[in-house]
Amino acid sequence: MQSIVSLCKRRGFVYQSSEIYGGLKSAYDYGPMGVELKRNLMNEWWTSMVHSREDVVGLDASIIMHPNVWKASGHLSSFSDPLVDCKVCGERFRADKAPKAEEGADAPMELPDKGKAKAALDKLEKMGEAGLTRNGKSVLGAKAGDRGYVCSVCGSPFLSEERQFNLMFRSSLGPVDPMGAAADKIKAVLNEQGPEALQASLRKILEDAVQSTAVYLRPETAQAMFVNFLNVQQSLSMKVPFGIAQMGKSFRNEVTVEHFIFRSCEFEQMEMEYFVQPGTSEKWLEHWSQARMDWWQKIGLSKDKLRLRAHESDELAHYSPATNDVEYLFPWGWDELEGVASRTDYDLTAHTNASKKKLQYFDPEATNPETGKKGWRYLPHVIAPAAGATRGLLAALCDAYDEEPADADGKGARTVLRLHPRLAPIKAGILPLVKKEGMPEVARRIADDFFKAGVTAKYDEQHAIGKRYARHDEVGTPYCLTVDGDTAKDETVTIRYRDDRRQERIKVSEALEVVKKALADA
Ligand SMILES: [Zn+2]
Repeated sequence: MQSIVSLCKRRGFVYQSSEIYGGLKSAYDYGPMGVELKRNLMNEWWTSMVHSREDVVGLDASIIMHPNVWKASGHLSSFSDPLVDCKVCGERFRADKAPKAEEGADAPMELPDKGKAKAALDKLEKMGEAGLTRNGKSVLGAKAGDRGYVCSVCGSPFLSEERQFNLMFRSSLGPVDPMGAAADKIKAVLNEQGPEALQASLRKILEDAVQSTAVYLRPETAQAMFVNFLNVQQSLSMKVPFGIAQMGKSFRNEVTVEHFIFRSCEFEQMEMEYFVQPGTSEKWLEHWSQARMDWWQKIGLSKDKLRLRAHESDELAHYSPATNDVEYLFPWGWDELEGVASRTDYDLTAHTNASKKKLQYFDPEATNPETGKKGWRYLPHVIAPAAGATRGLLAALCDAYDEEPADADGKGARTVLRLHPRLAPIKAGILPLVKKEGMPEVARRIADDFFKAGVTAKYDEQHAIGKRYARHDEVGTPYCLTVDGDTAKDETVTIRYRDDRRQERIKVSEALEVVKKALADA
């Protein structure tokens, strides 16, 4: 993983945000190569989801929505998870995701090494915990308490109280600072009723002031599709089943940020809500789970590093009867790339109740199951494939990263990104062998053809040819075209293929077509 992070920085894929100021935790910037890779990935998704289907249309909704959206969706009340701190290893984790342990059961703790285990034992003894022993990096002898769970990292039953945290980013709409009104109110209460009265009402005064203008950065893209369900259905006369797709940023104050860009507070989603007739959800869940698995393979992820995993009953969202995760085998293990959730009519019902607008669909052809007559008005059910674009980018990088050892002569070692050619930031490197004898001019002409055709190419004359190939291998450029001494004689160039370093001579006039065809066939 460390080698991928370092390549990302060295070659301009991903930088730590605000690095010159020491960096901002969990925020990342996509550099010149990263922005191309991310866009290519998202464009592939849009093409397969929207442009190549008649039953799915797109949407680009605002990130800030009416606060009532989040009240209706349940995010405002429940988007706060109970969190707990481990008193032994210091980890902060979600109580509902912690490993279960029955009261009185053995609770062995496992620290990263002997030294840490020794320090933990000392600390526990100071806390008054007697009768514990150490064996290597394990601390033994503790019993689980009445909490019903232990630390998710070290297994310790010594935990802080559960506390609520709001995971949504709160901001305020309108240029007037609500703190001004709060300050006036505080002064008034202090002058008129005294410090005791203020103490009792301080929290409420502040909360009221903030709430009066509070808006939230969306924690998911899905709700915009639900509140626009009727708009989209009516303006394009969409017939169920149909989908609304959206790509864009979402924001969550994640409790744990980890694994580079995998879990960060600002992330990008590619999500589609597919509205179906009640009673057909199971079939469509199956359909979309398979379709999404196939897509990840199509853009180059290894088949043996992808799996579909059905949620256990205790991890399902309360509204979902079934959810499948597309998981990828990251360097730290299997983890979620995309969730395909059956959401029933939960969201449309919630918004119907809260907004008093009927978000129903009328199907004149379908038979109403209650009356047995033709014409059925119903709330559609929803299957939602929601993928992480930034996670997808990380998976693509992990999958593509390869270090090839040197041959018997100690030569040829290289780092290569075997990205799917359509994901590659640069499709073709256009390289004059030397900076003279007319070679740069021919190379620039070829590059110009590529620019005009909209195929990303890079003219590159810096350093020796071997070094340039190595640089292009590291950013995943699938094809390099080299103009050399023979080019002027026979109007040919060398095309070098990234994956097997094979080289062929092709006509200058055919270079663009050869690359275009290779990209289309990839
Ligand atoms: Zn712990």
